[in-house]
Amino acid sequence: MKLIIPENIQEIEPYQPGKSQEELEREYGISRSVKIASNENPYSPSPKIIEAITNALEGINRYPDAACHDLMASIAAKYGVEKEEIVVGNGSNELIEFLVKSFVKTGDEVITSHPSFLMYQKFVQIRGGINHIIPLKEMSHDLHTIINKITEKTRLIFIDNPNNPMGTAISPNDLYVFLSTVPEHVVVVIDEAYADFMDENLRPDAASLIRNTTNRCSVVFIRTFSKAYGLAGLRIGYGIMNSSLASCLHKVRQPFNVNTLAQVGAKAALEDDNHCRLILQKNRQGIAYLHDAFKQLNCISYPTQGNFILVDVKMDADVLYEALLHKGVIIRSMRAYGFPSCIRVTVGKDLENLRFVEMLEKCLGELRG
Ligand SMILES: *Cc1c(COP(=O)(O)O)cnc(C)c1O
Repeated sequence: MKLIIPENIQEIEPYQPGKSQEELEREYGISRSVKIASNENPYSPSPKIIEAITNALEGINRYPDAACHDLMASIAAKYGVEKEEIVVGNGSNELIEFLVKSFVKTGDEVITSHPSFLMYQKFVQIRGGINHIIPLKEMSHDLHTIINKITEKTRLIFIDNPNNPMGTAISPNDLYVFLSTVPEHVVVVIDEAYADFMDENLRPDAASLIRNTTNRCSVVFIRTFSKAYGLAGLRIGYGIMNSSLASCLHKVRQPFNVNTLAQVGAKAALEDDNHCRLILQKNRQGIAYLHDAFKQLNCISYPTQGNFILVDVKMDADVLYEALLHKGVIIRSMRAYGFPSCIRVTVGKDLENLRFVEMLEKCLGELRG
């Protein structure tokens, strides 16, 4: 065999997903593990959502609706956009892929922040594009430096708002000023994976921003059903954008990219306001509880607009990660992201948060000496 692997593919480091509970329990021979590592929703979907998905099971001998008609109608009604302004994907990850496929050729440039969601850069590498990576400044996107990095070859800018893993959000005013400064040939992608958790007064007006593009750059908002809507396992997300951009993205997608159960589940989730309210309320309570616990354990936890918290544990985060694994708790160490003494913790159910805090206290007691 003589494999010829292109250089840009050789250079890609595979994405490391958080360890799964099954993996941990198998490797360490423990049970009742807690996973608060991947910012998933800790709650199962509501009975209404489960019922909608169950009812759709009988139809899965057929291909899904290629146009995602019913789901699109719900998204359009809820957010005041037209169907022509929506593209649905197999997770919002697929929207990132469509955007890079549509706009980036070999040698084109894309600007992202570090740390932020790692998938942006990987899709750019796959296309042979050039990543310009701008460090965060005071835990937020350094919008000024990003502007200065733009060239004729810049095609896309990815901004996760709120930022993962910091949990910080850009004020709408700063965002509007930024968007009015970016040249017209650039597409700015605002990744709103955690937008549902944000304070309402921090949410930008997406519907107006995708439309008013006279003398201004294009803006795309991408959102997911994996976090607040609790459907990470179904893989579904969407983007809203100017209809001319949406037409481009439709050209590069497979006709049946979103499966039937995902379409039906997402529509039911979007329409179950009570369930969503409950999730957001539990999240706020969990954050308050965890902040308080971190303070008592002499850790520094940072304010968050998401369902996760960045915490400075004042010791080697990789060492703490391993110690917590042995106690059946999976979190993320932020050492690989450039924060060697920080961890990222997802808000879990009450009992999971409690157990995590107990184990954290034990581990810190043992390790800090
Ligand atoms: C979790 C997350 C996503 C979600 O990706 P899906 O493919 O929709 O599951 C997207 N962006 C960021 C920043 C995230 O943290």
